[in-house]
Amino acid sequence: MQTRDYLKLLVEEIHSAVIATIGADGHPQTRVIDMMLWDDKGVYFLTARGKAFYEQLMGQNYISLSATKDQYSVSLRGKIVNIGSEKLDEIFEKNPYMQKIYPADTRGALEVFAVYEAEGEFFDIGDPSHVTREGFVIGNIGRKQAGYFVGEGCIGCKLCYSVCPQKCIDISKKPVSIDQNHCLHCGRCAEICPRQIIEKR
Ligand code: SF4
Ligand code: SF4
Repeated sequence: MQTRDYLKLLVEEIHSAVIATIGADGHPQTRVIDMMLWDDKGVYFLTARGKAFYEQLMGQNYISLSATKDQYSVSLRGKIVNIGSEKLDEIFEKNPYMQKIYPADTRGALEVFAVYEAEGEFFDIGDPSHVTREGFVIGNIGRKQAGYFVGEGCIGCKLCYSVCPQKCIDISKKPVSIDQNHCLHCGRCAEICPRQIIEKR
């Protein structure tokens, strides 16, 4: 799947996400926010100018969010921008329940934010013994490698495979290699490797 498929899933299938920002006391704060729209540039949500959340968005220009449904999840971490009332009418048209929450011209209290540059991750435990994860990006940024990787000096002892809960290590070759799309990031392989060559990135 591509970025647009994950954004579509986030907005049209899951819809409500937990967004984290940093509160005025320096601690993380979360709240549930609906994901209203998506397009090839990113994903859009809104909030009212009077909320503490609005001040945090304006001051931090960055969010983390996670949303889940039916044992799969989509997460994003990245930059946001306030686009004011742009797309507000489109949001109300596509999400008619908003007209009951903010009837008539009271929608004027709302401003729209776009997540325009972010790293994302899709994670699916629908088949628990064969989990799936995939990374994607919004905007013009490279994808950072994250997870566990086998470095130089593998002796092919297969101890890593013996302790891997998902058996997602290909031991048919030396060096062995980790299938990143099915790894839990649990770290058991790195702990047991006698050469200590499995690197966490
Ligand atoms: S981090 Fe865990 S799931 Fe991933 S390869 Fe290592 S042992 Fe297996
Ligand atoms: S435990 Fe370390 S040395 Fe042994 S097969 Fe796995 S990566 Fe190679």
